[in-house]
Amino acid sequence: MKTIRLKAGKERSLLRRHPWVFDGAIDRGRADPGETVRVESADGRFLAWGAYAPSSKIRVRVWSFDEAERIDAAFFERRLRAAVALRERLAIDSDGVRLVHGESDGLPGLVVDRYGDVLVAQFGSSGAERHKAWIADALLRVTGLSRLYERSDASVRQLEGLPPVTGWLRGDGPTECVIRENGWRLSLDVAEGHKTGYYLDQRDSRRDCAELTRRFGFGEVLNCYSYTGGFTVAALAGGARHVTSIDSSGPALQRARRNVALNGFDAARCTFLDADVNASLRAFWAAGRRFHAIVLDPPKLAPSAAHLERAARAYKDVNRLGFKLLEPGGVLFTYSCSGAVGVELFQKIVASAAHEAGVEATLLARHGGAPDHPTGLAFPEGEYLKGLVAWRRP
Ligand code: SAH
Repeated sequence: MKTIRLKAGKERSLLRRHPWVFDGAIDRGRADPGETVRVESADGRFLAWGAYAPSSKIRVRVWSFDEAERIDAAFFERRLRAAVALRERLAIDSDGVRLVHGESDGLPGLVVDRYGDVLVAQFGSSGAERHKAWIADALLRVTGLSRLYERSDASVRQLEGLPPVTGWLRGDGPTECVIRENGWRLSLDVAEGHKTGYYLDQRDSRRDCAELTRRFGFGEVLNCYSYTGGFTVAALAGGARHVTSIDSSGPALQRARRNVALNGFDAARCTFLDADVNASLRAFWAAGRRFHAIVLDPPKLAPSAAHLERAARAYKDVNRLGFKLLEPGGVLFTYSCSGAVGVELFQKIVASAAHEAGVEATLLARHGGAPDHPTGLAFPEGEYLKGLVAWRRP
């Protein structure tokens, strides 16, 4: 077993149970990609078992803080069983569920979503990659399912020096699935969609969007960055007269159309725009279009802390336009999935966007990732998704 010795004082974050060791914290020791290493303090005390990643700034990701624990096939099965058991206890009312949420489930770099009877996994770290076969076999045993698709094509793989890999890892068959969410039916394709196929983290936000649309009686709804139309279906289910959906991905919009039809809604209640959100919002403003509810769910605008300033400006621009297009008494559902943008900062950005738009707004609710996307208490980086539901005072 290889040992990684930390520099003096660099053991503190591990003692607080944060699961990462950065390259700069290491005094000596190295290992192969994904190899399990023993991490110890400068004075030789055991700190953790972790997976070594020679080319990543996050040089070690912790598997366990328990010296007696062995990182073997049984370890992965125990962790997976615990993760799946948590989701069962949470009684998520959907058959589209995130079963494993990386570090927060004690499995750094591993993401597993379940869509009906299809499992989709992302192996995003050298450690998860190295133990792929153990993890795949244990996943089938723990869930009782037989089909597992691999979507290891996220950009984080590059930081770990791993090539993109996609395809059936266990079993095979069609890659299209239909899940049930909040009483709606939503189709997706695990091979072609973004991430693992769908954004399960916004499940509860979509439910609340449907609910508020109903309570406020919103007529005209605008869904920006609509992807496959999750919020579009939500607004229609909430009784919206008409929903405009904007996305720059043609295939995503095609599927959004299918999802509207799948739920029996009249296509005449919808407009789909294959366009840039910013440009569309400016055009709506110029044309005098206004909406009762607007959803802004952009992709990650701040990939890291280094991009923070530019991202903050981008968030403010789009939110300012959103507020300007909102009818008095209307509601803005606005989100950021950038881990580098904290809750407080996001609220500041949205508040100044409202101010610049000349709008008085009140916070009705905060949104976050659905409960099957838990956050490790000592791992604030896991809390990437935050949302504000802001009401424009009449
Ligand atoms: N709200 C969606 C998820 C949004 S993901 C849901 O509930 O499922 C972000 C989406 O933004 C992606 O579909 C991507 O294609 C789209 N996108 C990225 N940049 C864009 C831009 N400049 N204009 C319009 N859409 C964009």
